[in-house]
Amino acid sequence: MSALTDLGIAEAAAGLAKRDFSAVELARAHIAAVAGARALNAFIVETPDAALAAAAESDKRRQDGRSLGVLDGIPLAIKDLFCTEGVQTTAGSRILKGFVPAYESTVTRNLKRAGAAMIGKTNLDEFAMGSSNITSAFGPVKNPWGPPLGRAGNKELVPGGSSGGSAAAIAAGLALGATGTDTGGSIRQPASFCGIVGLKPTYGRCSRFGIVAFASSLDQAGPMTRNVKDAALMLGAMAGHDPRDSTSAPIPCPDFARAAIAPVKGLRVGIPKEYRIEGMSSEIDALWRKGEQWLREQGAEVVEVSLPHTRYALPTYYIVAPAEASSNLARYDGVRFGLRVPGETLDDMYMNTRAAGFGPEVRRRILIGTYVLSAGYYDAYYLKAQKVRALIARDFRDAFATVDAILAPTAPSPAFAIGEKTEDPIAMYLNDVFTVPASLAGLPAMSVPAGLSAGGLPLGLQIIGRAFDEETVLRAGAAIERAAGFDTRPSRLVPAKAGKGDR
Ligand code: GLN
Repeated sequence: MSALTDLGIAEAAAGLAKRDFSAVELARAHIAAVAGARALNAFIVETPDAALAAAAESDKRRQDGRSLGVLDGIPLAIKDLFCTEGVQTTAGSRILKGFVPAYESTVTRNLKRAGAAMIGKTNLDEFAMGSSNITSAFGPVKNPWGPPLGRAGNKELVPGGSSGGSAAAIAAGLALGATGTDTGGSIRQPASFCGIVGLKPTYGRCSRFGIVAFASSLDQAGPMTRNVKDAALMLGAMAGHDPRDSTSAPIPCPDFARAAIAPVKGLRVGIPKEYRIEGMSSEIDALWRKGEQWLREQGAEVVEVSLPHTRYALPTYYIVAPAEASSNLARYDGVRFGLRVPGETLDDMYMNTRAAGFGPEVRRRILIGTYVLSAGYYDAYYLKAQKVRALIARDFRDAFATVDAILAPTAPSPAFAIGEKTEDPIAMYLNDVFTVPASLAGLPAMSVPAGLSAGGLPLGLQIIGRAFDEETVLRAGAAIERAAGFDTRPSRLVPAKAGKGDR
């Protein structure tokens, strides 16, 4: 890892502007880092040639004095759930192996228009279903934080999921930023596990056009970065109204980066009492209380709030998300995309293709989703879940009548070992307990690295905001970041001296 791969986006942009290095040099450093860290399995496809070509164009634009985008010359990793024209897009599934989209997702188009150079497509849980990256058809991603160096016999750790490849790539210095998607926590939880910043914007802030659909009423793209300012910069480039996504909000984007530097004095922050769940680990609780104190010390007012329906969020999510998934995944039939396994009749071909193409977790979700939508059970499960979802959203609305932001843990634990929780889907689903409520309510939420566990692994704190108020989320997140001073890098990839921190 060289100094160039230690930079944040804003720092790298400043270095490019001062001609300290060129975009091609920056791209080369990251291409070498990616090649040197293949053991992490963070990428499904590497695109060094495209990255170099984009970097060379950026250098040329700069030399010619042409106008530059906010991410001009910045190497980014793209979660392999975003369709990228001419570059394989798999969603981490065997069923899409070899699928090369003829079009570009709006988010990646926006990022490229802002000058970014795509360095590769990152690994993820199959169809973004998971919290560990273990369900990927391309093998699990390893968390760059573990196992601790020199401790033989320790198991490799998961990076979280589903955007685990993106999170691992940033933590390991393989890209300056990455895209993630978050349906029930897939940006925030891996960000917490890998010690980076992950922001899920308000539902509707970023276009879903060209993102492989999991649960359409929940899916949202967002930035994963090394610091809060970078998340703001990247969000500004990704977001905006898109007529090709009917749920994309036709409202202008504020200057997110500016918001990230505003002080929190006078801000009212809520602590939801129902998030203090039974059996919560004492280190998570202690970190959460520390977060409260950090905000208070910077002049915010911290008060308790109540979100009474919190305990129904997880079961509600695990009805709504599989229901939508079962419908969205009906399109993978062996006719239109990717894999086809022949059969004697058309029905046989459908069945053979889907049986061979989908992994066990995706099959489980399709089964659950089909069940809860079936005629006899629709009212008892799906309809009920929709009603509870409305109550969860109302809880937040009520809370936001008195506070500007909510502070909570991101995940109930630090990264766990690869192989742990795989036999027990409920244990895996429980990992999403703090992230799904904001998803069901469509609210913006961000995980910021706030400290280390007793075992030396990163832990994140989560800030949830009002709909379309990413500015306050960024502002509170930056306050946590300032106080936490988290600048640790994964030990096995970083030389002993601390990286050129930008925090
Ligand atoms: N872990 C959650 C799930 O498995 C969330 C995934 C996501 O946000 N894409 O559904």
